[in-house]
Amino acid sequence: MDRTYNFNPGPAALPLEVLEQGRDSFVDYGGQGMSLLEMSHRSKPVEGMIAETERQLLELIGLRDAGYRVLFMSGGASAQFALLAMNLLTAGKVGRYVLSGSFSEKAYEEALTVGAAEVLASGKATGWAKLPDVEAALASLTEGDTAYAHVTTNNTIEGSQFKTFPDTGGIPLIGDMTSDILSRQIDWKRFAMFYAGAQKNLGPAGVTAVVIREDLLAAAANAKVPAIFRYATYASNNSLYNTPPVHSIYMMKLMLAWTAREGGVAAMETRSAEKAAMLYEAIDGSGGFYRGIVEKPDRSAMNATWRLPDEALEKAFVQEAQAAGFAGLAGHRSVGGIRASIYNGVPVEACRALAGFMNDFRKRRG
Ligand SMILES: *Cc1c(COP(=O)(O)O)cnc(C)c1O
Repeated sequence: MDRTYNFNPGPAALPLEVLEQGRDSFVDYGGQGMSLLEMSHRSKPVEGMIAETERQLLELIGLRDAGYRVLFMSGGASAQFALLAMNLLTAGKVGRYVLSGSFSEKAYEEALTVGAAEVLASGKATGWAKLPDVEAALASLTEGDTAYAHVTTNNTIEGSQFKTFPDTGGIPLIGDMTSDILSRQIDWKRFAMFYAGAQKNLGPAGVTAVVIREDLLAAAANAKVPAIFRYATYASNNSLYNTPPVHSIYMMKLMLAWTAREGGVAAMETRSAEKAAMLYEAIDGSGGFYRGIVEKPDRSAMNATWRLPDEALEKAFVQEAQAAGFAGLAGHRSVGGIRASIYNGVPVEACRALAGFMNDFRKRRG
């Protein structure tokens, strides 16, 4: 089969191996004489599969037996924008948000519908080209009335990524890691909770992984929140309070196993840096034909964004790339330009080929 070079922003490229394993489970799951899609979520094989997925994710990030749980939830990362506020924003407390792109703004706006939320630092005045100084903003914060501080670790639409995360002491730090989870080694323990819609680095759409520290879970036991929206409900029922997206969780499990086989998070970090360098070199070596949108120190290793001299050339670039076998390169409709999303499932070879195409396009049209 001829696989397209897939730079889609999400849902995004998955390794062929993972897709093939998933295909097999469609017809017969583990010799059960039925598809995984046909099995009860409360059957032993499915219960075991979900428990194993939780274990594998914690294992990959070194948080096994470290007091964290993984909840498998629905509604995407967007549902978490509201749910985390519903669960954690108790009366008299304030959720404090670092604004670094449009998803972080959405998270903040959803919190405002639930309770008190404030902006801790913002990069909006730079058109999201530069990340705000989180260290400085957090340093000024005392525990007091802060329920939590929220940061979007990688800004999928704009193409920027935080490189370090501060020690927030007693303040729970919460991360939206949807577009860069498992792509690099970070000090995961700095976060009291982080969440990721699966469709970028973890598998297909339909499930969101919420990794939450047990003390925060206990603090989030707010009986005013309907049971189906309570984190504690998912934790105490091992994500089986209601019918979870079983097959999406299984695909995540396959993706986690693939990540481990490839060398784990450390290998993903090396590979991501290599892939991103290929694209940024093509941009920086183009004599100004391609212009990176984000300032260099803040550039993302997951979503590279850039502009061409005018919109007509950008349109031509996307069209010619598509014809040459490169999919998903148009920038987000809210910002335009070009975006190459190079999540864990995108092979190095795809980035090498795209860099080659960029150089060729520049020579012809620059
Ligand atoms: C994709 C994305 C979202 C939105 O995810 P949904 O699952 O579509 O709700 C939120 N935050 C970040 C950082 C993302 O990359």
